[in-house]
Amino acid sequence: MLELQELDTAIDRLEHRRAQLEAGEDLAVARRALEEADSTLGELRLALDAVAVEQRRFENEVDSMEQKAAADEKRMYDGSIANAKELEALQHEIASIKERKGRTEDELLERMERREELEARAAVAENQVAEARAEVEEVGGESLRELEQVEASLAERRASRDALAPELDEELLELYEDLRRQKKGVGAAAIVDGVCQACHEKLSALELDRLKHAEGVKRCEYCRRIVVFT
Ligand SMILES: [Zn+2]
Repeated sequence: MLELQELDTAIDRLEHRRAQLEAGEDLAVARRALEEADSTLGELRLALDAVAVEQRRFENEVDSMEQKAAADEKRMYDGSIANAKELEALQHEIASIKERKGRTEDELLERMERREELEARAAVAENQVAEARAEVEEVGGESLRELEQVEASLAERRASRDALAPELDEELLELYEDLRRQKKGVGAAAIVDGVCQACHEKLSALELDRLKHAEGVKRCEYCRRIVVFT
């Protein structure tokens, strides 16, 4: 009886696994992971492009401000301007350009730091994409191999079951099948140290004694499954 239960449990498990493999669940999970990794990488690359554009813009601004300040300073000292008011205005303008240049350099620095951070994250994301892609390929191959193994194990156990079932009493077998349908595939269990191995209830000493001496089918007083003393 217990041997039959073991075989049936194994068959149930294998059939469940075969259904999963045939539905390609593992592969679908791996594919979803790849899609997610790909989309993260895509977002990071977009952000990198945007920050690179900003960085170039600030670099150009700093360059042109430097040129403008240099040209103004040259005019200041080459004697081309004699008027004191004009000189003062020019001095003022140079100071203002330098101030703006300082602010722009801060912006530039911020973009450079952001770019470095994004590049580091993109490198990590690239690795994740590569790993996820390898996983998809591996799972695809593995699923086929596993499906073959599952089919072989199923055939083997079904043959054992077909050989074993006729050895059991027909009525007992019928009850067992009924119980299996009602009780999550488990119709028979061992009693170990007075405990039913299906529902894990400890049977009373009185009930154990009664069962041991009873004729015919023995059943757990709690879950009503067929029990076997081992
Ligand atoms: Zn029980």
